Amino acid sequence: MRTRWRGPGASRVMPCVVALGGVLAAEVPAAAQGRWFKGNTHAHSLNSDGDVPVDEVVRWYRTHGYHFTFITEHEYFTDVAPLNALFAAANRFLVLAGQEVTQRVEDRSHPGGARQAHVNALGTNRLVLPLGERNLATGMSIAATFARNGQAIRDAGGIMQVNHPNFLWSVPLADMMDLPDSTLFELWNGHPIVYNLGGTDSTGHVMPSTEARWDSILSRGKLLFGVADDDSHSFRPEDAGNPDLARPGRGWIWVRADTLSPTAILDALRRGDFYSSTGIVLRDLRVSPGEYRLEITPAGDRRYLTEFIGHGGRVLATSTTLRPVYRITGNEGYVRARVSDSSGRMAWTQAVRVRR
Ligand SMILES: [Zn+2]
Ligand SMILES: [Zn+2]
Repeated sequence: MRTRWRGPGASRVMPCVVALGGVLAAEVPAAAQGRWFKGNTHAHSLNSDGDVPVDEVVRWYRTHGYHFTFITEHEYFTDVAPLNALFAAANRFLVLAGQEVTQRVEDRSHPGGARQAHVNALGTNRLVLPLGERNLATGMSIAATFARNGQAIRDAGGIMQVNHPNFLWSVPLADMMDLPDSTLFELWNGHPIVYNLGGTDSTGHVMPSTEARWDSILSRGKLLFGVADDDSHSFRPEDAGNPDLARPGRGWIWVRADTLSPTAILDALRRGDFYSSTGIVLRDLRVSPGEYRLEITPAGDRRYLTEFIGHGGRVLATSTTLRPVYRITGNEGYVRARVSDSSGRMAWTQAVRVRR
């Protein structure tokens, strides 16, 4: 039986561990149909620290091949109804509500006396305020703020996305280990100073890359969903091409849903039925109990490398075809795929848990 892939988040709703030959159990949820919708989960306007009015932000995404964008201002909840009255079109474009919860956490040993624990609230119905005066939580860990803010976001009908953990070298990996399954996190953020690739300071202290963080968390049996987005702040045409500004159009997700509605997009995000991209387009993505299968849409004469990755970030297999297939053995712990092309563009698919 081959099933359309849905992320394992759906198993919380409907347990669906599929046995193969009595040996292998891969968490492959029931069939899902749908179209692919391209979207951005992180954008700012003049309503916080972006540089153009919010309608110009929306217009940019609408005129650049996107199907949706969330508006995620710092501590400001955007009423998207007037924007949708102007810009929405059935199954072609939609503006989604949200915000950035700009939590800081006091840490006197850290430069500036605080660490940044920003999260996005996606699909919420009201403002969620961070803890503490001037957004500064005291006497608590970053992990504790994630737990509190995640609950507040769920209470407001939304989904939490953990943002840019390496911004100002803020979030220790240990603080991400207790995030609930199906939490979104920024695997790739287009802002130039959030350091997706991590780094080591002059004393040898390592802050791991976002992708290494993901493998560490997945290897512990947790299932986070990796997002690529813009964190766009700079939209003025005269600044196009300035690599030091947070311009739009650098990273996005393709979400599989029946229709372009807030409910359908949020449900797909909750079950992990999406992949992240900086340019590579997938025609299809399917996981059956025994196989993880992609189909890449070729662009020009670019060449592609697909790496299937399992426990510990180990590369299980590679493929240079447009239809890479990985045959699941049952020993992988989890399986995900990373696709790169000869011009440096990337795609990352979500992990599925595998166990005997
Ligand atoms: Zn932020
Ligand atoms: Zn932001």
